[in-house]
Formats: sequence, C-alpha cells, structure tokens
Amino acid sequence: MSYLSYLECANCTSRYNADEIQTLCTKCQRPLLACYDLETASQEWDRDSLQERAPNLWRYRELLPVRKREFALTLGEGFTPIFHAHRLGESIGMSHLFIKDESLNPTGSFKARGLCMAVSRAYELGINEVVVPSAGNAAGAMAAYAAVAGMKAHVFIPETAPYPFRQECEALGAEVNLIDGLITDCGKIAKAKADKYNWFPVSTLKEPYRIEGKKTMGYELGEQFNWKLPDVIIYPTGGGTGLVGMWKAFDELEKLGWIDSHRPRMVSVQAEGCAPIPRAFHNGDTFAQPWQEAHTIAAGLCVPSAVGDFIMLKILRESKGTAVAIADDTLVEAQMRMSRKEGIFACPEGGATLAALEVLLKNQWVKPDERVVLFNTGTGLKYPSET
Ligand SMILES: *Cc1c(COP(=O)(O)O)cnc(C)c1O
Repeated sequence: MSYLSYLECANCTSRYNADEIQTLCTKCQRPLLACYDLETASQEWDRDSLQERAPNLWRYRELLPVRKREFALTLGEGFTPIFHAHRLGESIGMSHLFIKDESLNPTGSFKARGLCMAVSRAYELGINEVVVPSAGNAAGAMAAYAAVAGMKAHVFIPETAPYPFRQECEALGAEVNLIDGLITDCGKIAKAKADKYNWFPVSTLKEPYRIEGKKTMGYELGEQFNWKLPDVIIYPTGGGTGLVGMWKAFDELEKLGWIDSHRPRMVSVQAEGCAPIPRAFHNGDTFAQPWQEAHTIAAGLCVPSAVGDFIMLKILRESKGTAVAIADDTLVEAQMRMSRKEGIFACPEGGATLAALEVLLKNQWVKPDERVVLFNTGTGLKYPSET
C-alpha cells in the first residue's frame, strides 16, 4: 500500500527507521520528514488510477505512511471541494479566484487531515494513548480519530479557547485539560505529562506524520486543477504544517512525473497580534524569533513560536512568495464578506487569506488575472460572536 522508505531530518538530513516510533531528530531536535521510494512509485503508479478511488485522502495511499489498510482510519477526510469564487472574485476585480473549503472535513477543519494520518500511523505502530496541545481544532480532530481507533486521548487547550472546541473534545471522549496560557504553554505541560506517563505526543511537526496528512491538500490542488498548479496560494499559518506539506507534495508530484516545474508562489498570512513569520521573512531571518504577548481571535494563528519556522521561511523564499500580517478587525470583516459572497461560513483564519489577497492586489504583487487559491481552513461555527 505505501512506498514509505525512511525518515530524514529537515535540518541535518540524518536518517531514521520509519517503522519504529520516532519524534524529533535526536541529534538536532528538528522535525523528521517521511521519504518514499518515488523512483519505483513513478514506474508502478499511474495518476489515472485515482479516478476509481473514494473521495478521501487515502486515495493517495501509495505516498502516505500507513502500510496496512486495516490501520488507515477514516471519517471521510480530505478531497474537499475547490470553488471558483465568482462573486467574491468579481467584487475585488479577480477573474480566477478559488477557495479550497476545508470546513467540510470531519470535525470542521483541515486539522482532520493531519490527525487522521498521525493517529493512524501511531495506531499501526502499536500506540494506545495520545496527547496534543492545541488551540482547539487539532484537539477535536485528534479526539475523533483516537475514538475511531479506540485509543485514549488527552488534550491540552488554552482556557480561553471558545467553548465549542472543548465541548467537542469532551463529546468525543478525550480527557480535556484547560491551561491558563497560550498553545506554547499547553505544549510545555503536554510534553511534561507525555514524558511522565509515556503518552505519544502528536504536536505539530514533533512527530513525522501530521504533515503527511496535510500534504494531501497539495495533491488535491494538482488533481483538481488537472495537474496545472495555480499561481498563488494564500495560507493562514500557525505551526505551518499546511505550507510545508503542500510544498513537499509538489516535489513528490514532480518526481512522479505528474506535474511540471511550475510552482505557486506561497503566501503565509498571520494576525498582527502574532506574526513571527512575516516579521522573520521581511527581516531576512533564517529562524523566527518567538512573538511576545501573542493575541488574536484567529486561534489557529496564535502560535508565537513554531518548530518548523525555518522550513516555512525557506519555502516562502524558494517559491518567490511572501508573508502578510492582518489586523483582527480586518480579518473578521473579510471573514464575513467571504461568507456572504460565497455561501461558506468561513473561519476567521480563512477571512485572513482574503484580507491578505486584497493587500497584495493593492501592492500589485498579485495580478488580477492570476489563478489564486484561498484556504478556508475551518468552519466559522466554533467561534462564538462575542469574541
Ligand atoms: C491550525 C489552524 C491553522 C494553522 O494551520 P497550520 O498548518 O498549523 O499552520 C489555520 N486555520 C485553522 C482554522 C486552524 O485550526
């Protein structure tokens, strides 16, 4: 089922056995990435085979890390629609504007992709207790897949997280821990507990497989655009698994011979109250300094410091992309406009991509006839209006 061959450190390129439980590189503490035998895959796997497959992310199973079908957990995640946003596009003078609507995933966000993969692979490797620090969406997604696998789930979320996130985790059977602090504080506490009780941590990029789930967004863009990638992708960035994952997917697709070398310019959007990536990008830094006193209503973007910062920054530069920070009131206004014009109740993070596009149009960094994809990463339903 899978051409997975080994894991490689994104920083020092040390190799690790993919069939043992791995977290970070033991030499430099940076993320490990899954490597596949793309040579053999390109000879044996044809993209036409996709036509007969179910509309979920396991349609790309050859380049996903789970080896045996019985461990491939599914709730119907992935293969979300991509809409040509005619009315919204027209209102801002764009002819080829698209929205990839990730709110249709199980548990209402694209976190389902990453957690589907991380939990499935953990299940295959014999793990039965998982833990995650989360702003909310990752916790719900992990709880859902842990429930499917019959695993015990522990989640650590900020006590300021909107109530629906907590309610969802409880309904799905997770043990919920409310933390007085940000996701980085949740991360520290979750790690201490994980070490103590031997729970497996599935924090962003601290295990190798969430990114494998997220990369399927890149495969889908290929497939849905008939193997001609768009010109610009605007992505609301927290830990960055989506950016890193899609870029990895494009490399893999090219090695398979399914796409040519045309790459989208990748744009990272964050909130003005927590913008370590735009700051580091515009300063020309290799790593991002942690953001002090982070705050934004777009909970998924409230990540003051990300382990994958250096990978994201490299991708933004390699792709000739850029990074934009948006004020909370601007992103909320854009969220409402995206929702009204396109019939999608977008999340604030999704709204931020529209606001970023408007900045880039004004700067003429984006041309009105370019093919631009906005990611609506989750549903607006989980954010109560008083926030
Ligand atoms: C987690 C999250 C993000 C950020 O995603 P990363 O891949 O971690 O950068 C954006 N939007 C929503 C709704 C999220 O839950």
